[in-house]
Amino acid sequence: MCDGPDFSTETFPKARKDYRCEECTRPIRRGTYYHKLEGKWDGEFCTFRQHLRCHNIAMKLIKIIGEDINFGEMREVLKEIVSHNRRRRIVMRKNKNQEG
Ligand SMILES: [Zn+2]
Repeated sequence: MCDGPDFSTETFPKARKDYRCEECTRPIRRGTYYHKLEGKWDGEFCTFRQHLRCHNIAMKLIKIIGEDINFGEMREVLKEIVSHNRRRRIVMRKNKNQEG
């Protein structure tokens, strides 16, 4: 996937129908709140949807690794972290160059 979007809008609406979560691929049920990111990447309009829980995990992971994670890549990143920390707990670390 590409770098930053040309522009994007982040909202937390209530699902009007069932959607699929970009991260865990499980359904986002109608009537539940979810994280929605709409924007334009490389001239193409895209909409990404995540469960609030999946969104929160992704945000925590971004803090831990100090890098952005693309939609749909959270599980891969998690797998990597787990394989590197099989016998140790993941230590939350503050990134010195953290932005925002
Ligand atoms: Zn999910």
